[in-house]
Amino acid sequence: MSRKSAGDKYDERRCELLAAERRLSTGNSVGVFETLIAFPREYAQAMGHLAFHRLYKQLSTWPDTLCARAFLPAKDEYNWRKRQHKPVDALDTGKSIKDSDLLVFLMPSETDWFPALQMMELSDITFRNYQREHKWPILLATGLSVTANPIPMSSFFDAFIIGETEPTLGPVLDIIKSLGSRRRPKSEILAGLAMLPGLYVPAIHGIDPKFSIMRQWASSDSIGALTNTISAHTILPNTCILEIARGCPFNCRFCMAGYLMLPYREQRAEDLEHKINQIPDDTSLVYAACTPDGHDELQELMEIAEKNNLKARISSHMKESPELEEELTTILDAETLVIMPETGSDSLRKVIGKFRTNESYFKLVREASSVVKRIQICFQLGVPFENSSDRVAIIEFVTTVMSISDIPVSVRIDQFIPRPWTAFQWTAMANLRDVREHLAELKESLDSIGIQEVSGFDPRATHIHALLIRGNQAVGRALEVKLEGVGWNTAFDRAGLSMNSVFAEKDQNKKLPWEFLNMGFGYTRLAREYQMALAAEEERNTDTD
Ligand code: SF4
Repeated sequence: MSRKSAGDKYDERRCELLAAERRLSTGNSVGVFETLIAFPREYAQAMGHLAFHRLYKQLSTWPDTLCARAFLPAKDEYNWRKRQHKPVDALDTGKSIKDSDLLVFLMPSETDWFPALQMMELSDITFRNYQREHKWPILLATGLSVTANPIPMSSFFDAFIIGETEPTLGPVLDIIKSLGSRRRPKSEILAGLAMLPGLYVPAIHGIDPKFSIMRQWASSDSIGALTNTISAHTILPNTCILEIARGCPFNCRFCMAGYLMLPYREQRAEDLEHKINQIPDDTSLVYAACTPDGHDELQELMEIAEKNNLKARISSHMKESPELEEELTTILDAETLVIMPETGSDSLRKVIGKFRTNESYFKLVREASSVVKRIQICFQLGVPFENSSDRVAIIEFVTTVMSISDIPVSVRIDQFIPRPWTAFQWTAMANLRDVREHLAELKESLDSIGIQEVSGFDPRATHIHALLIRGNQAVGRALEVKLEGVGWNTAFDRAGLSMNSVFAEKDQNKKLPWEFLNMGFGYTRLAREYQMALAAEEERNTDTD
């Protein structure tokens, strides 16, 4: 009997994933314009991400348009494809991702940038956009990371959507379809795209455009995305996610998502009801938003779910920190209360603009203790102005939680990154040596009070994230070098980038790579917020004196 080849095995796997899917809504089955969404994450993670479903719905239902999906192959398959020179295939068609008219890469996080290039390399897509002048497909990038700072990826993509796709994607499709079907040169299509609001086209605008490109966002009526394909093989098996609000009403000074998803928009319960009615009662339902418990009609939404025999739960603070996005499974676990005080002291929390007190978290713990089975507390290390007493306050915070609740407590620690478009975008990142030392001390102290489950960040990986998201075009060169299999040090070095650059403050008078964008709020607001943080810090120093 002949053994199955690796190629057959991976193709079988693709067919199994497809066969296990249940569609809540179907896209066009005929169309002349072939689009493809590539999400540079593996299937299980990608299909648990609501933004992916939202984008797929938009593309697959646009007139005359077909849409397929592609994901980052798992490691073994990736290595096999690389050795055998096999491209990444679309899940739905088995065709190479290169064989489409429009290839849209979704990149919510800067950690998606390198895998996006890996998918392009596997599929033999020429990296540099200027070398693809006469080649198809057109490569479009979207997602929070490239909305914040598209410059590091500007050599690779033909166009970037700055902001949300609802108002922009339709006009993009119309231009590409109409000019493409008339066989107009690609340069003409890009010139057409560059005229659209919210589109950044490097070949036309350059890397330092003279006029600003305005972020676009959806109207409140368009909010309410729903999972369109249910699968047992995702990080949220057999689950439907329904968006009940977008943006965040709190706008903490350090949170990039909070700023870039302004304004806060809620969808009304009565407008979501018909969507909830479509959800099969053998699936779980998650109401998603940055802060879902703040939705004005959460109670009504819970009642609608109950009427439909659905057990609904909320995505507890899933977006508070972009780094936590990967932990969706834990966060959505109905039996775990996840709280994100970020720091242990009220005064430092006030400095970073998160206006909640320790007491409000303790109250939440008291109330939830009879309902949940576990508590996870998330902190950030290396927050601007953090001092040794703030780190002691973390231990005190955890000790208090343990004293008011008998249920098991775990702690998660991330490192603060001064991200673009936040009040702290000019500040320096805490240096590696200090952060390593503080993390080790914290773990030891947590262990001494009986917290065994501590997930700490990898300081080295966080350092790379910061270099990517705060970078300029040279970051793109470093990513390309990294594809040769070298380490990050070599990659950044060969791209002429100092890895220490993120450990220094940025000069407020010097232009930042992302400054040409217009986010709907100015640098003046960010600078003012930073001044307010300084004032809060001064106040707490005076109080201590
Ligand atoms: S940290 Fe959380 S509460 Fe604050 S702005 Fe971000 S999402 Fe909103």
